[in-house]
Amino acid sequence: MAVFLLITFYFREGGQGKGFIFEKSPINYRMYFKVLAESFDRIEKASSRLAMTDLLAELFKKADSDEIARVVYLCQGQLAPPYKGIEVGMGERFAEEAIAKAAGYSKEEVRRAYKKKGDLGLVAEELLKKKKQRSLFSSELTMEKVFRNLMKIATSGGKGSQQLKIKLLAELLNSASPMEARYLIRIPLGNLRLGIGDPTMMDAFAINLLSEAKRNKKLVKDVEASLKEKKPEKRKEEFDRKLRLGVREMIEDKYNVHSDLGYLAEKLRKHGLKGLNKIGIRPGIPIRPTLAERLPTAKEIIKKLGRCEVEAKYDGFRLAVHKDGKKVTIFSRRQENVTEMFPEIVEAAKKQIKAGDAIFEGEALAVNEETSEYYPFQVTIQRKRKYDIGKMAKEFPLKLFAFDLLYANGKNLMQLPFRERRKRLRKLIGRGKTIVLTDAIVTDSVDEMLLFFNESVEKGLEGTIAKDLNARYIAGARKFAWIKLKRSYRGELSDTIDTVVIGFFKGRGQRARFGLGALLTAVYDEREDSFKSIAKVGTGMSEEMLKELHKMLSKIREAKKPAGVDSDLKPDVWVEPKYVIEVNADEITRSPVHTAGKGKGKAGLALRFPRMVKIRQDKKPEQATTVKEIEGMFKKQKHVRVGG
Ligand code: AMP
Repeated sequence: MAVFLLITFYFREGGQGKGFIFEKSPINYRMYFKVLAESFDRIEKASSRLAMTDLLAELFKKADSDEIARVVYLCQGQLAPPYKGIEVGMGERFAEEAIAKAAGYSKEEVRRAYKKKGDLGLVAEELLKKKKQRSLFSSELTMEKVFRNLMKIATSGGKGSQQLKIKLLAELLNSASPMEARYLIRIPLGNLRLGIGDPTMMDAFAINLLSEAKRNKKLVKDVEASLKEKKPEKRKEEFDRKLRLGVREMIEDKYNVHSDLGYLAEKLRKHGLKGLNKIGIRPGIPIRPTLAERLPTAKEIIKKLGRCEVEAKYDGFRLAVHKDGKKVTIFSRRQENVTEMFPEIVEAAKKQIKAGDAIFEGEALAVNEETSEYYPFQVTIQRKRKYDIGKMAKEFPLKLFAFDLLYANGKNLMQLPFRERRKRLRKLIGRGKTIVLTDAIVTDSVDEMLLFFNESVEKGLEGTIAKDLNARYIAGARKFAWIKLKRSYRGELSDTIDTVVIGFFKGRGQRARFGLGALLTAVYDEREDSFKSIAKVGTGMSEEMLKELHKMLSKIREAKKPAGVDSDLKPDVWVEPKYVIEVNADEITRSPVHTAGKGKGKAGLALRFPRMVKIRQDKKPEQATTVKEIEGMFKKQKHVRVGG
């Protein structure tokens, strides 16, 4: 009993002690939400990515194996892995009502406070501090209770559900401290924004596995063999760093084929490093897509790959189709479950795929059945919708051009060379009009590649993708297994760049009407899990687009520079890094203004004459072009004439 009280006290105090009491305990303790809120508060104030990662690792240590998955999801403002599509999604008006109810203020008072502060989380915190009517039954909130109520908010719908949602949130606020209230409001509004991306999460998991890794003879031997440093103190430091990186890589390898951080955390918590062996590819769980490198000419591609497969590059949606018996699930490139949007592909997969279970990938686009012409992307994109799906499917039916096979009949095929996977893919697709193989040739001739490229472009396609015949499927990375060659125009970079909008400038003159003159955009730094500024984009947008962008961006305004954003330029309005836009430019130049690629005495990199091409709804911010890619393109530029 004494032990029980001691530990209860320990957690009520926020669980600041050593994790081992908790780890060894046979009793199933429940984490208080306070522990989570205090960690969030410290993470918000953390001055560096490293400090943030340590704080996260500490938090994860405090959760037991039954609850760690939930803690992991909540850290990213979610209730489940993104592929499950569960969003708390509460409107601001309802959150205001819940605050009013819980804090004993009128809705108008809450709204006024919101106008002043610009953040309902802070409003809830402040008003609860001044709470007029103390609730009689306030009790310490458990993480479990918070999770349960938020889940109910996320999943209840229909008549009367709004009142229920307000009640559920107010109930939580009633038992919450002011600081807890800050997060209880931000989560359902989708405003948590601690700036914790997947890489930081995995780093934190790795930190907690270090002591076990040090006992793993094989790992230790591998790391020691790779050490270059001679001085003993430095050697120890390097050893720790390399071991952590090694563990992180092992975790990422699994995340690539089983994209669910909560599930991973649970397995690691239960079984330590051995838990990784229990994680594998499974139909119904998304796999991170392999990515294409770029080279500017056919000659360089052949030099790099030798004999390779050259495929037409279609400009549509990349879809991963998972067939599990009669059940078909389709994931987008962002790993959202988009099954409902593409009924004809679901039907075709059931009919055409000759395997009990399979995971394959392809690009879907609208094709004019009468003329067999490909519709432009602007037409295909209309199929990404939640309403009128049946009608649009009739009007603009999609074809899925399949290009890779990852799994079939219970077997993971990712390790097989591409030529073998392609052979099996061809056999797997039965007759039908909807699922077909991509157009392709196999060649080692530059001329043949160019001829095929030109034919593809003439058909209205984007260009070609060359594929290494011997490469395994490399999930979640670019490693020259695929190399794209795109249409290019004189005076432009040979490929567009996908940037993330981090803010906007209001604009003067004509543009003032739209409230938006230019976008401040960034690229993604994978190592630092942050977004670094690269260009101010003010051209290429139609009036319609300006209006649309202004509307979209106004909803995700931030009062200050968001966590995870690195920019010396200050826009009129900061926004959450959420939207990816494709940008064309003349070249990449050094510039003191931007932060991408800045460091070691070098100025940053910037896009010269950037112009907007389109919004890339299929990409998550972390899937934007990376700093590393920009650096690669910048180097290439020096000896290859840009845009030639
Ligand atoms: P990018 O988005 O420009 O880096 O080009 C890579 C994308 O091209 C992939 O993610 C697919 O969505 C798309 N794609 C179109 N055709 C093919 C193909 N034949 N093989 C692989 N990817 C393709």
